[in-house]
Amino acid sequence: MPDCLSREKIGEGECPYILPGEEELRENRELRIRRKCLYCKRLLDLIPEEEDTRGFLLKIALEELREKDRVIRDMKDFLKLQKEQITVLHRVSEVLNLSLDLREIAYVVLLSITAGELFGFNRSILLLYDRETRVFTGYFGMGPRTPAEAVKIWEEIERERKSFPVLLESFTVDKFEEEKNKFLDILEALETEIDEGTEAFIFGGKGTLIIREKGLEFPFFRKIFDVLKTPFYVLLPLKTKEGPIGVIIADNFVTGLDIRPERIESLEIFAYQASLAIHRAALHRYLEDKLRELEELNAALKQYNEKMAKMEKMAAVGEIIHHITHEFKNPLIVIGGLSKELLKETDPSDSRYRYLQAINEEVERLLDILNRTVEDARRRFSVRREPVDINSLLESRLREYAPLFKAKNIQVNLAKDEAIPPVMVDPSQIQVCFDNVIFNAIEAMPEGGRLDIRSERNSGGSIRISFKDTGVGMSEDVMKRIFEPYFTTKKRGSGLGLYNTREIMKAHGGDIEVESREGEGTTVYLIFTGGEHGGEREKGEDTLRR
Ligand code: ADP
Ligand code: MG
Repeated sequence: MPDCLSREKIGEGECPYILPGEEELRENRELRIRRKCLYCKRLLDLIPEEEDTRGFLLKIALEELREKDRVIRDMKDFLKLQKEQITVLHRVSEVLNLSLDLREIAYVVLLSITAGELFGFNRSILLLYDRETRVFTGYFGMGPRTPAEAVKIWEEIERERKSFPVLLESFTVDKFEEEKNKFLDILEALETEIDEGTEAFIFGGKGTLIIREKGLEFPFFRKIFDVLKTPFYVLLPLKTKEGPIGVIIADNFVTGLDIRPERIESLEIFAYQASLAIHRAALHRYLEDKLRELEELNAALKQYNEKMAKMEKMAAVGEIIHHITHEFKNPLIVIGGLSKELLKETDPSDSRYRYLQAINEEVERLLDILNRTVEDARRRFSVRREPVDINSLLESRLREYAPLFKAKNIQVNLAKDEAIPPVMVDPSQIQVCFDNVIFNAIEAMPEGGRLDIRSERNSGGSIRISFKDTGVGMSEDVMKRIFEPYFTTKKRGSGLGLYNTREIMKAHGGDIEVESREGEGTTVYLIFTGGEHGGEREKGEDTLRR
């Protein structure tokens, strides 16, 4: 029977359970007993007769038993805690999954970070991150601001038995604002633009960062120390597959307690959940904004279409007036003149005299009606001139179409000559000209581009507005025909835009000129001659056509 239990040292190969690398166990009886002998199949046969060895063995066995028991109890506690945490986390994730309100999500996330049942930090702050500008903006904060307030809050939670699930349901917009206002100074102070290195360090996959030293290489981390005045803090990166979206900063500025390492893993799982919820809410908000923009755009387009329809009608009326004057009035005048001549040569006793008189009277009457109708139409579709600030008119058009430019990815630049005097024009009609030219430019840049608008006054006093686009341009064949009414190269074009624009410009004593290169772009010039007083034409009312 081997006496390995009573000897301090045993020889090589004597115990089959000592593995390579465990050679020290051969030299140390107590360690050997704790690690190997207590679990040795041969132990019961090996227990020696001597009291000394038996006593020693019993003492070690009891100590090991107690130690194991303690470990099991700890494990049980830990498992219980984990189970509670999982239940609570489950509840939190339900709320996070259901809400599309960023405020509610921020509230629930920070509540979880500060709740004793979960992560139990004294205080937490949410900063949102803009990937494009690399700027952190303070969004929300939660917790006490001073140790005294901390004591008050914690006592209140204790007294009113506010359990976490109850608190979880407590979100209201008012509560959110109240809590946020408490943190406004901190949130503002933490607004920071970071560099690429800092971004890579925070979001590069290290997970939770525990920041302890003040002399850190990243100014952002030092700034957080300065603002929070805390010995250490935890920085929890929030990101989704698409990239970083923010950080949660949490600290124990009141209790000074260190973060429990066993919580870090669940903290990270939680951070991922929070990131998804925040991302979803932000996306929702973005889509809502887009929807509003599209609605605005739609309204702008509708307004434009109505205006175009009106302009087309005006052009049609102009056409009718023109037609009547030429095709009706002139022959009537001829008939009237001839009948008068015939009347002079006819004797009143002649039976035809009465007929000629009747013809003459009817012609006069018709001419009278015609003149009155034409005058009426002239008045109705006339240019009503007033002093107009061309620059502000341009600005107001650009403001109205801003959502359209954005949606179409068109960069617009307006270079104003501030010295332009007011021009005597009909603002509603000039606005139509601007709209026609601007819409043609937009339609020429389906993939986006640049529209440069410039106003300038030349030495002769005329004012020129140029609209330069980087669109598809025009061939020479198209250029020749653009002012023809109804000429269009578009599926749904009216072909009246440039025609009407030219009519209006001419009615104002101005003009339109176009330069274009196929594949490069087009520049349209609207020219107002005569500056201050709107051309050499007489003031007041001119008809749109002749
Ligand atoms: P519509 O826009 O309804 O076609 P317009 O009279 O406004 O009618 O324009 C006539 C034609 O002139 C257009 O169909 C297009 O071919 C051409 N055009 C006008 N402006 C531009 C521009 N900025 N770039 C390229 N082509 C243009
Ligand atoms: Mg057009």
